[in-house]
Amino acid sequence: MKIVFFGPPGSGKGTQAKLLSSKLNIQHLSTGDILREKLKDNDQLSNKLKEIMSAGHLVSDEILNKIVSEKLTSKESLEGFILDGYPRTIAQSNYLLSFMNKNNLNFDLIIDFKIDFKTVEERIVNRSKQEKRSDDNLDVIKTRLEKYMQETYPVSEVFKNQFNDKSYLLDASQEISKIQKELIEIAKKGKN
Ligand code: AMP
Repeated sequence: MKIVFFGPPGSGKGTQAKLLSSKLNIQHLSTGDILREKLKDNDQLSNKLKEIMSAGHLVSDEILNKIVSEKLTSKESLEGFILDGYPRTIAQSNYLLSFMNKNNLNFDLIIDFKIDFKTVEERIVNRSKQEKRSDDNLDVIKTRLEKYMQETYPVSEVFKNQFNDKSYLLDASQEISKIQKELIEIAKKGKN
């Protein structure tokens, strides 16, 4: 199955993508995780990435499109994938849609995680205590939520309109296990 997750930072889509991808035995493609892994290289690029990410800004479309197209053409993606954190801009979305077209690929499910920003702020402040992510403090969270509204929300609308019959809106304020159950049900239906 080929799935795209949309939702603001802190909506729990990373946690759910991890659980669902292992349940369905497909690749979890979190661009945030891939970029955080790159930060460990400690070279010129990683220093630049660190600066952008710690401020809550978006990394360039060029870098992201390259990362994702490489991953999508790898054999690990043959069985399917969950895109988590990409596409985040209209330019990324245009790139992805034309990539899918060119390679004769189709999405099976589009999931939108809906949650209010107050809950997100509380969640991220808690996560910062556990995971020590440099972009998990209140100032940066506000920037990340702004970026989401300006850049990514419009992309989720494009997908909702274009893949209307495959799109689902999830109440992401529910318990992790409840959301997971709902997702598995949706995935089962999506397979038919
Ligand atoms: P995430 O873990 O998805 O919240 O991503 C953490 C950070 O990585 C974001 O705040 C951005 O700086 C960067 N990032 C992840 N995915 C993308 C993307 N698709 N486009 C641009 N920047 C991204």
